[in-house]
Amino acid sequence: MKMKLQRWALACLAVLASGGVTLVALMEMGQMARTKAQGQGDASARLPTIEEYQPKSTLVTAEHKPERAKYPFVDIHSHHWNPTAEHVEELVKEMDTINLRVLVNLSGGTGESLKKTLAVMKGRYPNRFVVFANLSYDDLNKPGYGKRAAARLEQDVRNGAQGLKIFKNYGMDLKHANGERVHVDDPEFDPVWEKCAELKIPVLIHIAEPSAFFDPWDYHNERWEELREFPQRARPPAKYPPFETLMAERNRMFAKHPRTNFIAAHLAFHGNDLERLGKLFDSHPNVYVDIAAVLAELGRQPYSAHDFLIKYQDRVLMGKDIYDVNEYKWYFRALETRDEYFEYYRKRHAFWRIYGFQVPDEVLKKIYYENALKLVPGLEQQWRTGGY
Ligand SMILES: [Zn+2]
Repeated sequence: MKMKLQRWALACLAVLASGGVTLVALMEMGQMARTKAQGQGDASARLPTIEEYQPKSTLVTAEHKPERAKYPFVDIHSHHWNPTAEHVEELVKEMDTINLRVLVNLSGGTGESLKKTLAVMKGRYPNRFVVFANLSYDDLNKPGYGKRAAARLEQDVRNGAQGLKIFKNYGMDLKHANGERVHVDDPEFDPVWEKCAELKIPVLIHIAEPSAFFDPWDYHNERWEELREFPQRARPPAKYPPFETLMAERNRMFAKHPRTNFIAAHLAFHGNDLERLGKLFDSHPNVYVDIAAVLAELGRQPYSAHDFLIKYQDRVLMGKDIYDVNEYKWYFRALETRDEYFEYYRKRHAFWRIYGFQVPDEVLKKIYYENALKLVPGLEQQWRTGGY
C-alpha cells in the first residue's frame, strides 16, 4: 500500500516536472476526442437535453412490486364517458386482476345520457360501479338556474346517481353571459350544494390546478415539462384568477355548506403542503380528499405523507383519475411498501423518484374503501352484496 502511494506521488511529480509540454499534449488529445465524437454524431459532444438525460439508478435496495392491492378497493375518481357494453365487460375483467372492487365513474352526465351510462354500467354489474352526475350549465344565464340544477340533480339521483362531480372549468373557465367568471362560492349554486346535503350525496369537486400552473413558466417551475407539453394547462394571470383567490372562494363555499360533504379532488392541490391541507381538514369537518394523480406529491415526502395519512386517516380516499389498469400498481407500492427511490409512471408530473410510505393495515383499509363506504350512499350495500 505504502509502495503504491509513493509511486503515485512520484508520477505526479514527474508530470509537474515536465511542465507545460504535458499539459498541452493532454489538451490536444481532448480536442481530438471531441472532434471525433462530433464527427460520429455522438451526443456526448454537447450537453444533453432535459429529455435525453435519463440516468439509470445504480441503487440496489429491496423492491416489492404488488400487482394487486392488498385489500379490495374503491376507485373514487375515474372517468368513462358514454361507455359501451364491451368497454364495461373489459373493465370488469381488468378490475378483477388488481382487486379493484368498485369503480366510481365521475363522468355520468345528467338526464338521458346519465341514464344510459347507469344502465350500461350498473345495469350489468350493480355491485361493481357507482356513477356520479354532472351539472349542465346550458341554462346558467336564465334566472333561477341554481334551483333548476338542484331539481335536475334530484332526478338524476332518483335515477341512480350516487354523487355529484364538478369539473375543473368551474371557477376558472365557466362564465356568465356578461363575461364574468363564475366564482367558486357563487351564491347561484347554493341550492345545488344544499340539495346534496339533503340527498346525503358527496360532491367530488376539482377546483384550480397545481399551483405551479399559475406561476411563471420559467426554469424554476417544477412543472416546466408538463407546461411545455400542454401549454394550455398554464393559468397565466391575464386569463385566470390567482391560485389563492380560488382557494379562498373554495374555502368560503366549504364553510357556507357544513352539512354537505365535499371530496376535494387531487389532495385539494395541497399535496405539496400537507400542513396546509391538515389545517383545511381541521377547520372544515365536511371536507375529504382523493389522492388521484397526485401520488408523486406524497411519494416525495414519505415521512410526512405517512404521518399525515395516519393523522387524517378518515379523510383520504383512493382514486386514480385517468383509467389505466397498469398504472394502479404505483399506488399499491407507495401505500403498502417502504420501497425507496423508484420511478413514477408519469414523468411530466414528477421528474423526481418516489418512496413508499407504507401505512398500517387499518389505515390502508380506510383509504382503500372504508371512507368511501361512509360517504357514498348505497355503496356499503353494494360492497356487502358483493361479498366483502
Ligand atoms: Zn378527474
